[in-house]
Amino acid sequence: MNNQEAHSDQLIVIPRSQHSISRKSISDAALKVLYRLSNSGHRACLVGGGVRDLLLGVQPKDFDVATDATPEEIRALFKNSRIIGRRFRLVHIRFGRDIIEVATFRAHAEDSARTELDTHGRILRDNTFGDIEEDAIRRDFTVNALYYDIHDFSMLDYAGGLQDIEKRQLRLIGDPTTRYQEDPVRMLRALRFAAKLDFSIEASAADAIHECGRLLAVIPPARMFDEVVKLFHSGNARRVFELLREFNLLRYLVPALDEWLQDDPSELMLDFIDQALANTDTRVNTGQPVSPGFIFAVLLWPVVWHEACEIQSDRQRMIPALAQVGETVMKRQVRHISIPRRFSQMARDIWTSQPRFHRTQGKQAQRLLEFPVFRAAYDFMCIQAMVGLSPYKLSRWWTDYQADQPDQGERPAEEQTEKARRPRRRRRKRSAD
Ligand code: ATP
Ligand code: MG
Repeated sequence: MNNQEAHSDQLIVIPRSQHSISRKSISDAALKVLYRLSNSGHRACLVGGGVRDLLLGVQPKDFDVATDATPEEIRALFKNSRIIGRRFRLVHIRFGRDIIEVATFRAHAEDSARTELDTHGRILRDNTFGDIEEDAIRRDFTVNALYYDIHDFSMLDYAGGLQDIEKRQLRLIGDPTTRYQEDPVRMLRALRFAAKLDFSIEASAADAIHECGRLLAVIPPARMFDEVVKLFHSGNARRVFELLREFNLLRYLVPALDEWLQDDPSELMLDFIDQALANTDTRVNTGQPVSPGFIFAVLLWPVVWHEACEIQSDRQRMIPALAQVGETVMKRQVRHISIPRRFSQMARDIWTSQPRFHRTQGKQAQRLLEFPVFRAAYDFMCIQAMVGLSPYKLSRWWTDYQADQPDQGERPAEEQTEKARRPRRRRRKRSAD
C-alpha cells in the first residue's frame, strides 16, 4: 500500500480539553463495553462513524469499538456477545435492541501472509491482528480512522482525518486505486458518505472511481444487496442516485435502468424516480418503515413499463404483460444484486397492482385493498399521479376510499412487508430469484 504518508510520525493526539466529544453523547451500551474492556487491562477506543458523526454534530447510527483484545477474549468478557463474520471476525455485543460491534485491531492486508487476495487484488479474508496504528491505516477514509480513547478521553488521529473533517472531504488512506482494488465496495461507501455528510470526494479518490468502477462486477451479489440497501435507505437516496449517475456506477447496480437512461428517457419517469426516492428519504428521516422491495420496484419501473407496453398495446390487458416482463427483468437484475425473494416478489406485486388501481368498480377495489402490498403499491401509484404518469383523480379516489373504510385506517407498510415475508421465514439461506 502506498500510504507511507499516513504513518504514525503524523499521529496527532488531541486531549479531552481540546475536542468536543463528551461521554454524554455516547450510548450507555458503548460506554459499558469500553469500560469493561479497559478495566480488564485492554486498550479500548470508539472508532469509525460514531466518532466522525459526533465531531460533525450528527447523531451516530451506531457505535463501533476497536480494541487489542482478541475476539475470544472479548467473548469471554461479555455473556451477551457472539463472534460473527468470516471475512473479518467481529464480536457483536447485544444490549436490548442495541448492538455494539467490537473489532480487534488489525494489520493491513499486505503486511500479512495470511491475507487472501483474489486475482483482482481484492481482499477475501483478513484476520491478522495488529496494533492501533496499523488498524488506523487499513481503514477506508481518513475521517473514519479517528479514535476516541476511553483511557484518557483523548482523540487519536493517525491519518489526517481531523483536517479532512474541517475540509469536509472524503479522502482515502493511501493510494485510491489500490484501496478500491482491495475492496471495490469502498467506492459505494464514498458515495454514501458524500451524500449523508454533504462532503466532497477528494479529487484523486473521485478520479479513481471512474477508473475502478468496473471492479464492482466482482462483488458477490449478496454483499451488493446489503450495500445497495444501505445506499438507498440512508435518508439521502436522492443525492445517492445523482452521484451514482455522475460517477457512472449505476450500470453495475441496475444495468437495465442505466441502459434506459442512456436511451432518451422520459422526463416524467425521471421525475417519478426522483419523487419516489424523496418519499423514501422522508420516510427514513421520520422513522417510518421502508422496504427494499419498494426501492427495486421504483428503480426498475421505467424498464418494466416500457417493455410491458412493447408486448401489449391494449392498456386494459397490462396485468399479465407486467407479470411476464416483471419476472424476466427481475431475473436479469438478480444476477447483479441478490434480492431476497420476499423483496423481489414485493416489487413484482407492486408492478402488477398498478393497473388494478384503475378498477374502482364493484368488489375489485375492496380486493385490492386487501392485497398484502397494498400500502406500498398505493404509495407507488400516488407518486405516479403526483408526477403526471397516472391521473390525479385516481389517487384522490383511493385516498378517500380508504378513509371511508370502517377500521381501515392506514396499515403501516411494515405490517404488510411482514405479511409478505411470513411464509418464507423458515428458510435459513437467503434465496434470490
Ligand atoms: P455508518 O455506520 O454511519 O454507516 P461507519 O463509518 O461507521 O458508517 P461501518 O460500516 O459501521 O461504517 O464501519 C465502521 C468502520 O469500519 C468504518 O468507519 C471504517 O473505519 C471501517 N470500515 C468499514 N468498512 C470498511 C471497508 N470496506 N474498508 C475499510 N474500512 C472499512
Ligand atoms: Mg458504524
